[in-house]
Amino acid sequence: MYTYAQAFDLLRKQLVPLYDERESAAIAHEVVSHITSLSKVQRLVEKNSLFTAPQQLQFESCAEQLVKGVPVQYVTGTAWFMGKEFAVNNNVLIPRPETEELVQWVINEQRNKTTNIIDIGTGSGCIPVSLKLALPGADVTACDISEGALAVARQNAARLTADVAFLQLDFLEAGQQNKLGMFGVIVSNPPYIPFSEKERLHTNVRDNEPGIALFVPNEDALVFYRAIAQFGKSHLTQDGKIYCELDAEHAEACKALFEAEGYWDVTLRKDMFDNWRFLSAQVG
Ligand code: GLN
Repeated sequence: MYTYAQAFDLLRKQLVPLYDERESAAIAHEVVSHITSLSKVQRLVEKNSLFTAPQQLQFESCAEQLVKGVPVQYVTGTAWFMGKEFAVNNNVLIPRPETEELVQWVINEQRNKTTNIIDIGTGSGCIPVSLKLALPGADVTACDISEGALAVARQNAARLTADVAFLQLDFLEAGQQNKLGMFGVIVSNPPYIPFSEKERLHTNVRDNEPGIALFVPNEDALVFYRAIAQFGKSHLTQDGKIYCELDAEHAEACKALFEAEGYWDVTLRKDMFDNWRFLSAQVG
């Protein structure tokens, strides 16, 4: 059996070929904390305690996955978003810090309003659950094509006691959109990476996160934004607003698309890393 300190050190060293020193240490900390249910400080105090046999097995299985490049969030089954712990597995994208900025933007603008909100392509449910917790007066709906993702999203909503209505549907099929009502706010972080860019992604993402949540056809990278813009014209109430996440490569084209569909005040925003990342648009 390893002591907590030995386990931490061993894992940290095993991860150095994959991550830099700081990240390797952070991941090793996360894993040992997860297995022992101890904070970093407690673990340091008890650094010479030995793993139990089941903890040792769990550690070995975690280490084995991590050295294969599986992201730590899938290994521990949890990810943090807006200060809350969300369950994740490989049916959903790991929530990104940029998406927290999208959610915060919606919260800031929609506070003190009662509205119906829909999140399109909800994945782990990090967006609707966070919105419902911050805006308890809002009616929040979320949809996804993937039953596997919806199972995770429902689990997160239940665990964090957020009352969100979940629906399974293929948003790109016009007929299926009829299942949805009217909304004051549409939010989405849809797939937008052309398949042709797959090889350029970090192997961590490419080999582990669900392709259905990431990729779009090369010849139609804006397919989700177009569907959202068209949906909004018949499913947004007066003064309704759309908030989307995007990448810098598609920002201008997305803005032009929403303007061509008749939206006004189409605004692009940068994320904390200084990349164009968000768009908002008001229905005309
Ligand atoms: N809405 C989820 C997120 O932002 C999932 C996004 C997706 O699967 N494209 O993490």
